Amino acid sequence: MSGTRVVVIEDDPSVAELVTLYLKNAGFVVEHCATGAEAREAFTRGAPACVVLDLGLPDADGLELFAEFRRKHDAPVVALTARAEDVQTIAGLDAGLDDYLTKPFNPRELVARVNAVIRRATGSGGTRPLEIGNLTLDPAKHEVTVDGQQVSLRAKEFELLEAFCRQPGIVLTRDKLLENVWGFAYPGETRTVDVHVKQLRDKLNGAKAKIETVWGVGYKLVPPA
Ligand code: CA
Repeated sequence: MSGTRVVVIEDDPSVAELVTLYLKNAGFVVEHCATGAEAREAFTRGAPACVVLDLGLPDADGLELFAEFRRKHDAPVVALTARAEDVQTIAGLDAGLDDYLTKPFNPRELVARVNAVIRRATGSGGTRPLEIGNLTLDPAKHEVTVDGQQVSLRAKEFELLEAFCRQPGIVLTRDKLLENVWGFAYPGETRTVDVHVKQLRDKLNGAKAKIETVWGVGYKLVPPA
């Protein structure tokens, strides 16, 4: 990731400083904008690898700023939000934010998210739609359907499902999934995987492919016979 440019849009100096420090330590070139006006100017200087966008800015509506950016560039955007209501807005929003964190957040977590969205955007896994029975996952459109009906997934649920769909029938350990989906290993955080798998199962209950538990090991996606 050395030399990769990330634009951080954040008006709170202490948050901006912390985020900048952690991203720089992770090898990114960080460009900080404290206002929407500065951000708009930064957007004209070409596409960064990723944008970290605080939705609560003094001079701009964060989501509007996001939409403006999206009209020009495809680079992934990780939103920062202060209030629980914002999370609701985002979750319900089909605007295509790549990920978000609610303040206060662990800056290491932010670095992991930034790495993950960049990895996803640079398409190491390819962008062809993956079809397993009546389940389709389209990495390019970031869309999942069951029997042609769109299923709304959160960012991490999508990435987790993508990991399964890329290796159907193969057992994936919780540690492997943590590393692939969450960006790096969180020792002892494997329950996160379990929680997300449960959510995926609930949302995909019409799919013929099933995520099966392999006791003591992890999970695998079992395609329909
Ligand atoms: Ca703010």
